[in-house]
Amino acid sequence: MEIIHVSAECYPVAKAGGLGDVVGALPKYQVAMGHTAKVVMPMYRTKFLYQNDWVIDFKGRTNLGNWWFDFTVIKEKTNKLGFDLYLIDINGLLDREKVYGYNDDTERFTCFQIAVVNWLSHWQHKPDVIHCHDHHTGLIPFMVKYCYDYNKLADVPTVFTIHNAQYQGWMGWDKSYYIPRWDTWKAGLLEWKNNINPLASAVKNAWKVTTVSHSYLDELRYNSNGLEALFEYEKGKCVGILNGIDADVWSPATDTYLKDHFSVEDVEEGKAENKKLLCSQFGLDETKALLIFIGRLVGEKAADLLPDAILSSMYALNNGVNFLILGSGEPHVEWQLSQLNAHFPGNYHAVIGYNETLSHLMYAGADFLLMPSRVEPCGLNQMYAMQYGTVPVVRSTGGLRDTVVDMGDHEGWGIRFNNASVGDITYSVTRAAALYNNDKEHLNWMRQRMMKIDNSWENAVQQYINVYASLK
Ligand code: ADP
Repeated sequence: MEIIHVSAECYPVAKAGGLGDVVGALPKYQVAMGHTAKVVMPMYRTKFLYQNDWVIDFKGRTNLGNWWFDFTVIKEKTNKLGFDLYLIDINGLLDREKVYGYNDDTERFTCFQIAVVNWLSHWQHKPDVIHCHDHHTGLIPFMVKYCYDYNKLADVPTVFTIHNAQYQGWMGWDKSYYIPRWDTWKAGLLEWKNNINPLASAVKNAWKVTTVSHSYLDELRYNSNGLEALFEYEKGKCVGILNGIDADVWSPATDTYLKDHFSVEDVEEGKAENKKLLCSQFGLDETKALLIFIGRLVGEKAADLLPDAILSSMYALNNGVNFLILGSGEPHVEWQLSQLNAHFPGNYHAVIGYNETLSHLMYAGADFLLMPSRVEPCGLNQMYAMQYGTVPVVRSTGGLRDTVVDMGDHEGWGIRFNNASVGDITYSVTRAAALYNNDKEHLNWMRQRMMKIDNSWENAVQQYINVYASLK
């Protein structure tokens, strides 16, 4: 099968979160299973662009309403990532360092999508599936069906994967002229609640919709930022497929970001070495349990609860644990977490920013990973943590519920709680500290247990292939 993935992110080219990890891994494993998988994404100005060689694949000219623009599709020369990688350059819009966060994101991603379908409609053949990821690519299933210029692609199956339904790409109807000449009788297939809603449009128009865990798919029907009724209505074409993790990047035995490697057999010593390094880097006390948080400092991740939860845990345990935080996001949360640096020297540190290298050392060196998320479609952090023998302390929601079993349950290896609240987090931190201080033997058993869990991509890839095959 020939599958073309369309995405705003793809690791290691550009990554802002889990979407990047998934789009960097899924096509690679599809190729390994004998399929042809390609990725097309915007040509941001990231390191990867400058460090690799490219050939021009296509040059085109098209329009966003009455603004005409040129675009260029370039292809990575050496198949370095294990699949064909195409970048689309649009001067003035996509030539930026960051993936998101600009005032003209609507125009940036609409132009990107128009360029993608324009390019695909010039291919000599048709791909078997166009696989779109998240709202930045959500207009494509509509465009291939109902834009007159792309009629040629109307019978190509489209699959849409929801990695995060909180962000939907809403735009006003005044921008409907951005979409290339389309059948206006079909306006209802672009709309949700009086706006053009790319995510909703994708759910309506894609042949199949997938989400990144089963529990998240269930939750979307009663909690999806306004789209609940739509998910209830369209549930027949929605499928939950849990993400895998890319063992080439995320394995403590071979991780290129680590100095001290380890595996199930020497997990205790291996983690101790990494913890030592990590603690010395931030002046933390390596004899105490080390809890980490890695992620976007936003409401979805319940990052706003962290400052109070850390304070109350420190008081409850008389500074008996360490916290290390890595993330960036809402300025007031960043500020509050930074302020705590001065309060608990030797026991707490917050690094504000994005740091891939540090994140790997943290997964390897920490004892516990805290994820109090209000919403978690799949969550990769807890899966990485488990791979590195770090006990996940998670709220029971979405993919966290599907991947972590509480240590109180039969053969459980994690700590779970129900409410995104300071009280629940604090109580869970005290459970973690008690495990670390009083029951090292059980802790080590849990580490070994979770490291043996198979979260590889092979299983997930087969489920995606089954979805594509069902569209033939
Ligand atoms: P998201 O909702 O952000 O996509 P996921 O759990 O699915 O959450 O994926 C998060 C990914 O981003 C993980 O690979 C995690 O290690 C990484 N990540 C998040 N924030 C940071 C950061 N500040 N520095 C390094 N890596 C980060």
